[in-house]
Amino acid sequence: MKDEIRQDIFERSVIVSTSRSKRPGAFIDKKHREKACPFCPGNEAKTEKTILALPNDSHWNVRVFKNKFPVLHTRTFKPLEEGFFSKYTPCGSHEVLIETRKHDHEYFNMAEKDISLIIEAVKHRYTELMAIEDVNYVAIFKNKGPRAGASLSHPHMQIIAAPLFPEAISDEMRQSEEYFKKEKKCGDCVTIKQETRARRRVIRHNKDWIVISPFISTWPYQTTILPRRHFSEISEMTEEETMNLAKIIKKLFHAYSKLFDDPPYNIMYHNFPGSDFWHFHIHVYPRLVTHAGFEFFGLNVTITTPEDAASALKNAIK
Ligand SMILES: [Zn+2]
Ligand SMILES: [Zn+2]
Repeated sequence: MKDEIRQDIFERSVIVSTSRSKRPGAFIDKKHREKACPFCPGNEAKTEKTILALPNDSHWNVRVFKNKFPVLHTRTFKPLEEGFFSKYTPCGSHEVLIETRKHDHEYFNMAEKDISLIIEAVKHRYTELMAIEDVNYVAIFKNKGPRAGASLSHPHMQIIAAPLFPEAISDEMRQSEEYFKKEKKCGDCVTIKQETRARRRVIRHNKDWIVISPFISTWPYQTTILPRRHFSEISEMTEEETMNLAKIIKKLFHAYSKLFDDPPYNIMYHNFPGSDFWHFHIHVYPRLVTHAGFEFFGLNVTITTPEDAASALKNAIK
């Protein structure tokens, strides 16, 4: 295996993971799923051994295990080669979190308490992985549908523990820090207040959470879920906040499925360890369009205004 983390002189990095090319490329079709789906109950032996099962091992609703085709997998982080370019061991871990025992379930038809169990499991794994010495960042995400990069259709999330901060996180952190230094306030706390007043981009809110269409949405119908209380990582989330997040997720995905008939999407949990200027949030990107050449410049064009998206999603929830 030639797996490694590469870094250039600008400290831009890439993970080389050749074993990933062996994972199942074909999407399992509905006809064959009972026999074929390795994520369905009864097929546990087809996956790696259970790391966490909730509510319990024998009748789990959420199950976590190591990915068979991990992006990162060694215990220690050390240089493999130093020269003009640098190479490091592919340190970290890659876990799969099965969100439900039901192959066809989605957030909109799950019970709220089942969604809260998923969040509970994510929180648990995040906390454990962050405690590992060479781990600096834990990336939590979900790919749904082949257009969003999922290779299996059974609802699942992925958790990757890495020795480096992903570039998107470093960029967001730099922006948040600059704002904080200038204004002495968390930018997202300020944005939540402003958007609550303006209301035009607010899709849903409850006691603890708010869902908005970001003012500078780069994908049509993308949304951000933010806690009203300032905290920077999922490990700080209270039990009540977990339950209320589950409620808002169910409503939001009910709206997505009503508008777009169960669309492909990506979800990213954006955590940052203990920070006054990082506000925990969840990005949701429905994959309704493909980004093209121009977007690679980072100058994005969106075909739906965030205000129209917010109003359509809001109406779909009713
Ligand atoms: Zn399945
Ligand atoms: Zn904040």
